[in-house]
Amino acid sequence: MRTNCEALNGNRSNLEKHILKTLAEKQDFQAYINYIKNPREHFKNFIRDEVNQFVTKTFEKNVRPMMENSTKVLQQQITNAARESSKHVKENDGDVGFWLRHFTQQLSGVLVFSKSDLIGVNQGDANVSFLEDVIKKELPSIKFDIFSKFRPEMFQVKLEQTDRPDEILIDHFCQCCWVQCPFCAAICTNTIEDHPGDHSVPFHRNNGLNGWFYRGTTNLSISICTSAVASDRHFRNSSDERILWKEYRIGGPEYASWSITPDLSELPYWKWFVCKFQKDLEKHYEKTYQGRGKIPDEWRKYTQEDAIESLNKYI
Ligand SMILES: [Zn+2]
Ligand SMILES: [Zn+2]
Repeated sequence: MRTNCEALNGNRSNLEKHILKTLAEKQDFQAYINYIKNPREHFKNFIRDEVNQFVTKTFEKNVRPMMENSTKVLQQQITNAARESSKHVKENDGDVGFWLRHFTQQLSGVLVFSKSDLIGVNQGDANVSFLEDVIKKELPSIKFDIFSKFRPEMFQVKLEQTDRPDEILIDHFCQCCWVQCPFCAAICTNTIEDHPGDHSVPFHRNNGLNGWFYRGTTNLSISICTSAVASDRHFRNSSDERILWKEYRIGGPEYASWSITPDLSELPYWKWFVCKFQKDLEKHYEKTYQGRGKIPDEWRKYTQEDAIESLNKYI
């Protein structure tokens, strides 16, 4: 499954790239907020959706045609058996019981009959041609019944929780570091949970999308962690102390455990996101991108395609 599923055939960074691509395509703000605030939950749901889509696609492509073919063959065998039985009854002057015995005998290799299957047949009332008619009439609806009961979603339900492919993949992808940057909420890319050393991520984001704003204003921040740590500006930590960005580690343990190196590389993706969802972000945080938080014109030039394209730098 992983080989055939692009989102699931690499490491977690590759999966995150696909998640961000899907978010950009769907343009659903609430889904973005879910990803930013509860990344682990978002990843899990994404994996479940991918697996469901894969199972459904495989079912439609491989399993359904096979089932349809087998059903057709079986249907033909049953119809033939009914016809043969009627012929046999006429030749031997048999009754309904004779017909049923002959009928079930012919199909003994393909169908399993029990006495209870035949209980409804009242031998006194039924006649042979009636039985043949019933078989012809009922067969198409029996086929339909098989298909309505045999759906792709049944595969997963039948499996033990620990054997389900989505749960196996969730374990595979989610047993890693989930610590988020205290400023921009980017997820540490280390593949080991509780790893030694600092948390880090190749691309940070502008902090306003995580709710950071300029002190004394209601303006959301457009600062990006990697450029902020190269500046002479300050931020307020969770104890409201004024900390120089360059010395962000002294802000407290949640800052000290991160390695944020000064760097001017930025992902156009998050610039596009802020421009695209400016109104939604303003409403969500009850603040605005104004004053110091005015969105630079340069950010507005990025299109959805540019944003998605920039994700290729991701891994
Ligand atoms: Zn950050
Ligand atoms: Zn980490």
